Amino acid sequence: NSATRTFHSLRPPLELPPPNSSLSVTDYVFSVLRNSPWSDSVALIDSATRQRVSYSEFTHWTQTLAANLSSVVGLSKGDTAFVLSPNLVKVPILYFALFSLGVVVSPANPISTDSEISRLIKLCKPAIAFATSSTAYKLPKLRLGTIILDSPEFDSLMTTITAQNNLPLPRAEVSQSDVAAILYSSGTTGKVKGVMLTHRNLTASAASYNATSPQRETPAVFLYAVPYFHVYGFTYCLRSVVLSETVVLMERYSLRGMLSAVEEFKVTHLALVPSLVLAMVKDDLTDGYDLSSLESISCGAAPIGKDVIAAFSSKFPTAVIAQGYGLTESTASVFRALGPAEARRPGTTGKLIAGVEVKIVDPKTGESMLPGEQGEIWLRGPSIMKGYVGDSESTSSTMVDEWLKTGDLGYIDKEGFLYIVDRLKELIKYKAYQVAPAELEQLLQSHPEINDAAVIPYPDAEAGQIPMACVVRQPQSSLGEAEIIDFIARQVAPYKKIRRVAFVDFIPKNTSGKILRKDLIKIVLQTPFSRM
Ligand code: AMP
Repeated sequence: NSATRTFHSLRPPLELPPPNSSLSVTDYVFSVLRNSPWSDSVALIDSATRQRVSYSEFTHWTQTLAANLSSVVGLSKGDTAFVLSPNLVKVPILYFALFSLGVVVSPANPISTDSEISRLIKLCKPAIAFATSSTAYKLPKLRLGTIILDSPEFDSLMTTITAQNNLPLPRAEVSQSDVAAILYSSGTTGKVKGVMLTHRNLTASAASYNATSPQRETPAVFLYAVPYFHVYGFTYCLRSVVLSETVVLMERYSLRGMLSAVEEFKVTHLALVPSLVLAMVKDDLTDGYDLSSLESISCGAAPIGKDVIAAFSSKFPTAVIAQGYGLTESTASVFRALGPAEARRPGTTGKLIAGVEVKIVDPKTGESMLPGEQGEIWLRGPSIMKGYVGDSESTSSTMVDEWLKTGDLGYIDKEGFLYIVDRLKELIKYKAYQVAPAELEQLLQSHPEINDAAVIPYPDAEAGQIPMACVVRQPQSSLGEAEIIDFIARQVAPYKKIRRVAFVDFIPKNTSGKILRKDLIKIVLQTPFSRM
């Protein structure tokens, strides 16, 4: 029966605490850590200051901070804490402390503008904010004020045990169904929404890493080039503790800074988004560094081309790129390529994680599709969000009978590997056809004289829209419009041809590597998106 054609995971089942248990995600993650042979290895390294934090300091500071936030600051279960910070060593400590108190963690991009912040604050209604001395000025007055992370006050909350707080921490009555975090969806195709993730959602995400932990002689050394406020970094923060990995943090990302940190700290794993993989492929800066310690690169949050992955593999033969696919609404990746054999399958974002179910649904008829057939990806399982905060309309249009409609177009092959085509909303409508910009972007990016590229819809009286390439050429390249049009025309069906080209200095992208098409359209056409 096509309406109920559902795919299940073939991975080993997850060991999750019972849904009605009063365990916070901190309780779960720390209990896994306690049983790890590496429970006293290095947890965090700040690549700029070289500060190192061991896992015993990490857990001790988390508990001390939680005790002080409760007894000195007055935070309690159900309050929300807004966090506005770059990747600092203190951020994961703060997250785990807040989770253990049942305080909802709501982190945002520290470069958000005042008006963006006031929109987010209206959604999450925080009692308190945690910010840095350079971001705090953007915040309004909150009931419990703002605590500055890079201040002696915060250090003292994290390290001082007083008569008021007794360790170990008295347990807050947190239940698995309580909201643990509100994360903001990227808003590249619509208004910003606050995604409510429960302790259950986060525990399931942490447990999925625990269940598939790779066999290693020593802990992985993982450099995060992704921010802690995005679901990718946010869930990796759980992953690293569950697998007792050493995390190398960069407060400010730069390619040079990342490469020198890989060399200095003998980094084995990188968490990247496609734009950063592309930079490693295209930039000669990599030649000046010893990157031989790299074993594996996690990549997700946006589409990446097979050719870019192949170019990466020939430039860095010892490192394998493992893709994952997921959304903020699914607590990050629910499809993952595990191990080199899965990761090396061209174009796949991997197989379903345990406990999650998927349907591929024809967006027009609502019918579930067979392996190999394209449709919208629907997901169900313990890592699917509770809903959007204060937005029941968006929640009910996105979730149907506990199924999350992802808005992504893709297909699954007979062995259960997922392939993403593009976001449904990004498809260009050329005459009666749909053209996926991601496919054309990936082909353009494979051209040796093209540094980066994006494809946007260009209004056309006859066809409705035509695909237009926005191209950043390699320095010194004089590649012309006709050559680009021809390069693509030789590789795709006629209806997918690029029919117009603009040369640009850069492609605007957000921190998770997604192309900001509305901004690009404004730059290229000097036309508001709404008029197109
Ligand atoms: P976010 O909520 O910011 O994590 O964005 C989720 C969206 O990122 C998904 O709906 C996809 O469109 C996109 N995405 C995530 N992972 C991948 C991937 N591996 N390949 C292509 N697109 C991806």
